[in-house]
Amino acid sequence: MTQNTIIIGAGISGLSAAYYLEKAGEKGSITILEAAKHPGGKVATTHEDGFIVEHAPDSFITTKPFMLDLVSELGLSKDIIAPANSKFFILKDGKLMDVPKGLNFMVATDEDAFMQSEMFTEAGKHRALEEVNIPAKKFDADEDESFGDFVERRFGKEMLENYAEPLFAGIYSTPSYELSMKAAFPMFRNMEQKFGSITQAINAIPVPEAAPKNKNENLQRSPFVSLKHGMQSIIDALLQKLYKTKILTEAKVLSIHKNGDGYKVITDTHIYDAGRVIITLPAAAAATLFATLDSKIQNILESFPSNSSRILTLAFNKKDCELPDATGYVVAKGSDTLLSACTWSSKKWDYRAPDAYHLIRCFFSKTELLKLSKDELIMIANQELSKLVPVHGTPVKSWLSNYPNLLPQYKVGHLEKLKQLNMLLEALPEIQLIGAYYDGIGMPDCVKQAQAL
Ligand SMILES: Cc1cc2nc3c(=O)[nH]c(=O)nc-3n(C[C@H](O)[C@H](O)[C@H](O)COP(=O)(O)OP(=O)(O)OC[C@H]3O[C@@H](n4cnc5c(N)ncnc54)[C@H](O)[C@@H]3O)c2cc1C
Repeated sequence: MTQNTIIIGAGISGLSAAYYLEKAGEKGSITILEAAKHPGGKVATTHEDGFIVEHAPDSFITTKPFMLDLVSELGLSKDIIAPANSKFFILKDGKLMDVPKGLNFMVATDEDAFMQSEMFTEAGKHRALEEVNIPAKKFDADEDESFGDFVERRFGKEMLENYAEPLFAGIYSTPSYELSMKAAFPMFRNMEQKFGSITQAINAIPVPEAAPKNKNENLQRSPFVSLKHGMQSIIDALLQKLYKTKILTEAKVLSIHKNGDGYKVITDTHIYDAGRVIITLPAAAAATLFATLDSKIQNILESFPSNSSRILTLAFNKKDCELPDATGYVVAKGSDTLLSACTWSSKKWDYRAPDAYHLIRCFFSKTELLKLSKDELIMIANQELSKLVPVHGTPVKSWLSNYPNLLPQYKVGHLEKLKQLNMLLEALPEIQLIGAYYDGIGMPDCVKQAQAL
């Protein structure tokens, strides 16, 4: 059998898979086939007139060390930056509300500040503080629960709708009563099982008291970091580091066929022999490649749900738009607004815009907005922003990125579905799947999967 490894897709999953294969001393050849003109997938940064615009990821989490380790191996540690600001708002009842000081994973660690918050009613606050007295629920081994049921059961509905859903369920672009606890938030479930309540679990973690004194200290404490020159510097550094992998762009894979012990991988211009195939595409695109191999795998992959999002990034002259010192806002359930969230990138990170400008990322996910033109979205964003902060003019620059059905949703039962998929894949041992729909949605999860593989 040929020792060729074909990796399909040159996003962070495909490129880091090639990197770890090379690092492990892979003897055979490694080829990446990528449909787009450029490698990188969703990780893409535009540098224009002093602006640094992120098209999808703008940061990564450091509590999962895989991405941080890779960044360090790529020699990029010196470029890591922490957020310049940690405050963010919740948009509720048409107002930007401060998150109560000390609110940590829904647990009010500063009860006085929590009791003064405008974000919850008196009854809602007392209900959230009751969490410590609510006994842990007993589960059967494979039993899942929705994030919404979990938070409502432990902290009450207000904590869910005003805080947990916009902040945590938003990351998974999934309504909270459909989002799987087991797949998305196993740590909260483990906290409940181990400590009896999330409050006791959080209180058991030593919390540093003083505010960070300088940027280095901030860097050590921040769970999210970015890179000075943008996230695409990770992709560029990976491309530099790969010494034996061949990367072919504009090479869309159409099908895979069995060929003795190996496979034939077919694009519209070539046929490649492979001993091993690593598929790093989003689930729906991966599904199409199984049409000729195994229709059951194709069906399961097609059933992985996804959501759509559009990101409109706007540059405003500072005299035309005044922003408070904060990273932006997320939106409480039931709020009357067309944006799903808004990041004030130039407030959140240094180096993102020239001094005289703000850079703002507006997220749209409502179905009725997915087909609107860029100009229509700019108008809506301007209107929505001006309800919240002083806006005296229009943006001087704009960038639009579209992700149709490209945000994986981890719905209740996700892990069961993965189990079935993995059982079927045992019949095709030299085909491996990794990616954001599979075992973790963020970049560190993709890198973890590539490393494990
Ligand atoms: C709007 C948005 C914001 C995000 N923000 C963050 C964040 O802040 N932090 C974070 O950690 N994560 C974030 N993520 C998630 C992160 O971007 C993804 O987890 C990660 O980039 C997925 O990488 P991947 O390589 O698995 O897939 P992709 O990046 O999707 O790469 C797959 C590649 O396969 C190619 N391809 C598709 N079909 C074919 C084919 N038939 N043949 C050949 N090639 C093909 C595509 O062109 C693409 O290049 C965000 C995602 C989105 C959409």
